Amino acid sequence: MRHDLEERLASSWRRAVAPPAQLTVSEWADKHRRLSSKESSEAGRWRTARTPYLRQIMDAFGDPDIDEVIIRKCSQAGVSEAARNVLGYWITQDPGPCLWVMPSEQTAREAVDERIRPMIRHSIPHEVPTSPRDMSLAILRLRSMELYIGWSGSPASLATRAVRYCVLDELDKFRQFSGHEGGPVALARARTRTFAHRRKIIMISTPTTRDAQISREYELCADRREYFMPCGACKEPQLWTWERVRYPSVPQGERAGNHAERVGAEQLARWECPACGAENDEAQRQRAILRGEWRSCYDGRQARRVAFQLTALSNPWANLSELAAKWLASDNNVGAQQEFENQELARPFEQRITQIESSEYRRKRLANDEGAGVVPAWASVVIASADTQRDGYWWMVRAWGPDFRSRLLDWGFADDLAELRAQTVDNRFTVAEGGGELAPRFLLIDSGGTTTEGGSMTDQVYRFSLTDWGRIIPTKGTGADRPAAAPIQQRRIKYTPPGMTKAPYEIQLSLVDVNYYKDVLAHRIGADDVWQEDESITDDYCAQMSSERKIVTRRGSKVRQRWVAFAGVANHLWDVAVLQCAGADLAAVQLMPTRGDVQTTRQQTPPPPRRRDGGFISRRDDRSWIQRR
Ligand SMILES: [Zn+2]
Repeated sequence: MRHDLEERLASSWRRAVAPPAQLTVSEWADKHRRLSSKESSEAGRWRTARTPYLRQIMDAFGDPDIDEVIIRKCSQAGVSEAARNVLGYWITQDPGPCLWVMPSEQTAREAVDERIRPMIRHSIPHEVPTSPRDMSLAILRLRSMELYIGWSGSPASLATRAVRYCVLDELDKFRQFSGHEGGPVALARARTRTFAHRRKIIMISTPTTRDAQISREYELCADRREYFMPCGACKEPQLWTWERVRYPSVPQGERAGNHAERVGAEQLARWECPACGAENDEAQRQRAILRGEWRSCYDGRQARRVAFQLTALSNPWANLSELAAKWLASDNNVGAQQEFENQELARPFEQRITQIESSEYRRKRLANDEGAGVVPAWASVVIASADTQRDGYWWMVRAWGPDFRSRLLDWGFADDLAELRAQTVDNRFTVAEGGGELAPRFLLIDSGGTTTEGGSMTDQVYRFSLTDWGRIIPTKGTGADRPAAAPIQQRRIKYTPPGMTKAPYEIQLSLVDVNYYKDVLAHRIGADDVWQEDESITDDYCAQMSSERKIVTRRGSKVRQRWVAFAGVANHLWDVAVLQCAGADLAAVQLMPTRGDVQTTRQQTPPPPRRRDGGFISRRDDRSWIQRR
């Protein structure tokens, strides 16, 4: 209660100190804004009633209780025009220094020459400075305030300067900022800090991918608003989603492209109301746009940031059947599908190619008649793998046999290297049907990149590998973007431990193309009877093993496929399983004879480590050195 009261007092105080702005932004625009034929196909006086969804967006900028407005939008919906109305309002009603940031110098030049200067000349001519030098590209010195123009990638144009207003226009097209700047949004907040509750930041963009700026800011905003429009039949306000747009499917024997054209030309698309089932046509949609209203998903106290999501379904310049035609024509074309999602539906694009449900592993669980951790008779090699973390090691031991069949033997988390060794390379696993015992042929261990108080993890893993040369193999992931020559490559590298100048040790490092082996692993998990789990798996195991999905993304003209982790889910065991697949190649599992011949080829013990002279290590020499450290 008390907090509520304080907030209300603070709010009324802010209203009291705010300059006396009698008009809202939309009222100002209706009164003063003139559009030339250059700026708009509908030249003349601006009418907010034409695009009523812009009213609340614009008026948010005159609201002293709102600092930041995030607009995730479809293309060509008049949002940029609305932003210029806001600028005109600031200039005449509530002036203060403003920084307007565009994606590039080129786009900034176009915006200033073709949009901002004409807006000022036509709508607020009394603000035009007497000297033309005061209307340059980088700075417009107007009568009542200064407007700075910046673009991403140009530190000079974004120089430290306190501003009250900051507009980030087409945010997802901004170039990557250099590290210390912390991104365009952080920059906008830093520049406006001194104006505290009188500042305004606008972020406008059509979205690209989920991890790009506008979608991140949108999803972080508590007060997200969507435009609800009444159904023409039952008048019930609804969020018009693309999923409820109906159009005839492609008739058999007809080309998708021809069908798409027909849907557009004959206006065959309808929007089906979820409340009454009525099919609304384009004319009904146009009427619905005029009667729509913004609703928030958030009903708590007012947040200081609001976000608007604007799709082509509430854009009067779009057409339902033309949208359907565009969607139909994008079939089988990832680039076109992404463009449709981004530009029309204002949604971030994510095409999942592969995703493994956690329940999949439960289905792959096989009861082991021989007992837990017993190697099946068909298997001929045991492989251990581990993922290096700051606080310990996730590990897994699996049996492998012909046709890449694999059975889980044991898995867990080791607090230190001694425990990891005991659970993996020093462990022995009973083989079913009196087949004796098998030790893991080797342990593949990620050499990591993390540094702890005890020194770099890479260094510790290297030292660990020297204690059992050839059986403890450090790995390093490669091939995030470009595929390696071979999916697993052996490298011998010289290793000089910290604090030593002589006696370089030789390390056998395996470079693992992680993306490739993720594909391989997903493929094996998807196949029948290849990847087998046992009864030891837990919910955590299943969650970690389904922590990544493969998606297609597009940025500019670049289309790429990549594995990405779900936010907030540990993916260590997935990485460990990926190393198992690399290990299977290293152990030449593909050369294994088919069942029946297995008994004769089974290797009971691993080969002894090779003794090396002339400055290189032997196991005994090295152990003493390790223990000293
Ligand atoms: Zn209805």
